[in-house]
Amino acid sequence: IGLLTGSPWDTLNQAIWDVYSTKAQKESTYELKINLWRHIFLFIRKCLNSYGLFMVGSTMSGFGLDSSDVDMCLLTKPFTNDPRLDALHHLNTVRQLFVRYGVAVESELILAKVPILKFREKDSGCEVDLNCNNSVGIRNTHLLFSYSKLDWRVRPLVVMVKIWAQINNINDAKNMTVSSYSFALMVIHFLQCGVTPPVLPCLHGLVPDKFNSDSEHQTMDVQEEIPAIKDFRSDNTNCLGELLLGFLRYYACFDYNRCAVSVRAGCRLPVEECRFAKAPKNDPNQWKHLCIEEPFDFTNTARSVFDADKFKFIRDVVAQSYRELERTKMLGSILPVQLH
Ligand code: ATP
Ligand code: MG
Repeated sequence: IGLLTGSPWDTLNQAIWDVYSTKAQKESTYELKINLWRHIFLFIRKCLNSYGLFMVGSTMSGFGLDSSDVDMCLLTKPFTNDPRLDALHHLNTVRQLFVRYGVAVESELILAKVPILKFREKDSGCEVDLNCNNSVGIRNTHLLFSYSKLDWRVRPLVVMVKIWAQINNINDAKNMTVSSYSFALMVIHFLQCGVTPPVLPCLHGLVPDKFNSDSEHQTMDVQEEIPAIKDFRSDNTNCLGELLLGFLRYYACFDYNRCAVSVRAGCRLPVEECRFAKAPKNDPNQWKHLCIEEPFDFTNTARSVFDADKFKFIRDVVAQSYRELERTKMLGSILPVQLH
């Protein structure tokens, strides 16, 4: 793959590749998770007629870590006029069945805006987050999967950024920092418009019949390969080390007051444009501090960062990591604890 070229970036490139090869989801883990999905799907279908179950998130997108949880989406027919009430009803039913038949060892129903049934499956020991009818996750997983396939550097960079963010304590939406999904969008956006020439195109522009905000375009296969983009080749020749440094530089200098990250548009957008976008789920109050446009439903995926001090902490980590990596070109300088 041309990592060792006798250039000053060799050590950093190799270190990023080592992190990627040791931390990324292994093929055997992927198979274990697929078997888990099959088991749960057959169980749910037997007990609750006509329910669909999709595997989403990093297990399928190509950005999984070996330690990542499993995200699933249960699709059901409308039951009441209130989608949240429906979700609570269905997830509660599933939870009771899991307890009765011993499918899950631990389970908890999280009563968030998008309710989640969290459980640990008995045989595999995997942690699963199950939502109900949050179908935007099916579409955006397909989008992420498609971006991951466009260039060999995308997966190692996203995995590296996730590990860097975890170790620096800025990758936990529950703790008012940034979700893994948002980091994946930030990397893709950087590769679209933060480097010249770009590493990634804008898929909403390139294949609008597959990727647009019209909810009629629900995919049934999150790993469906799109023939129209099979032959895409980027003219960018930057190595992994240059791209990681470029990512940190881009977000250390980003104008957060005025700009939003948009993978859908493939460029920065004025925050005001996102704040007042006409979309059913968009709430103008979500657009504060870090603004990352969800490519299908136009919400802010970084709305978890609503605290000014947390936002400052995140910016400080980015800025300091940029300075350190620029100075040393050593991965250890931006990972405060040893990797195991
Ligand atoms: P990890 O490897 O850390 O589990 P992940 O890629 O699975 O990372 P999560 O942040 O756990 O990322 O999100 C799981 C999936 O849920 C995403 O891939 C996406 O499909 C969906 N998702 C998460 N946050 C949002 C959001 N704000 N809007 C829409 N979909 C989201
Ligand atoms: Mg996940």
